[in-house]
Amino acid sequence: MKKIGVLTSGGDSPGMNAAIRAVVRKAIYHGLEVYGINYGYTGLITGDMRKLELGSVGDIIHRGGTILYTARCDEFKTEEGRQKALDELNRYGIEGLIVIGGDGSFRGAANLTKKGFPCIGIPGTIDNDIPGTDFTIGFNTALNTVIDAIDKIRDTATSHERTYVIETMGRNAGDLALWAGLAGGAESIIIPEVDYNMDEIVGRIIRGHERGKKHSIIIVAEGVGSGIELSKKIQEATKLETRATVLGYIQRGGKPTAIDRMLASRFGAKAVELLLEGKAGRMVGIERNQIVDHDIIVALSGVHKIDEDVYKLSQELSI
Ligand code: ADP
Repeated sequence: MKKIGVLTSGGDSPGMNAAIRAVVRKAIYHGLEVYGINYGYTGLITGDMRKLELGSVGDIIHRGGTILYTARCDEFKTEEGRQKALDELNRYGIEGLIVIGGDGSFRGAANLTKKGFPCIGIPGTIDNDIPGTDFTIGFNTALNTVIDAIDKIRDTATSHERTYVIETMGRNAGDLALWAGLAGGAESIIIPEVDYNMDEIVGRIIRGHERGKKHSIIIVAEGVGSGIELSKKIQEATKLETRATVLGYIQRGGKPTAIDRMLASRFGAKAVELLLEGKAGRMVGIERNQIVDHDIIVALSGVHKIDEDVYKLSQELSI
């Protein structure tokens, strides 16, 4: 293998740039040429790509977003779209592709591999919802963003003696809400993976209030439903002033934490190694702090689960 490509696809996440940098530097270290494809699979179909040099990825390790831009591309879901992409890859003489993105992007990579073109997936999403890895690039940074927000909201919640409902992102996964809730000291954490009992949440707020607590913080994952609606129900039931904050896209941006930069660097290097070993249709991951790789299809057929111990602890600490 002499020439490889790299792209970012789907939702962006902080640390994607660090992963691009690692791919490019590791590949060049091993004597490969690397092409950066703009706008995910869209750029693959239109041939929007350029050669990346060592300097092309200088000064990006600390930046959020992705210098290769990202996109969602419906055409790539069709056989014709993937054939166009394959034609462009062949035209440029590219022999292997590294895809940084979420599960949708991984399905694209798996489908291109099925056509005989070797692809490797690197999990990049703040949702931490990909089976086959304990952590995805961007989760740690988003987690710190949420905690920062909780700390700030806590100040005003105390001053006004209010209940605050904070809605986090995470699509159908509760990891972001769970970890942020535990690290941020929330009274209740509501996630899609666990049924919640409104009476219990309300009871906990009222008991806390009677004990002289100045505020309550409730974290709700977007996969459960609207934080605003939930706050209305809580106010009705507790008769205590309740406000909602939907954190939204601030969770997707910002400079990556050291942990995400480390993860991205290790993932990027591993992905290049796999291509050099002649592997295809694999995803990289981290399990018990070891870098691993799995068949993409097999990994995606699994279900990402929350860490039961973390959930149990969150319940025990928020009595
Ligand atoms: P994420 O990768 O963050 O989960 P999406 O689910 O939007 O984001 O997927 C990103 C892109 O991956 C899609 O716009 C599409 O181009 C490609 N993709 C998703 N599913 C498939 C599929 N089954 N086959 C081919 N490409 C796919």
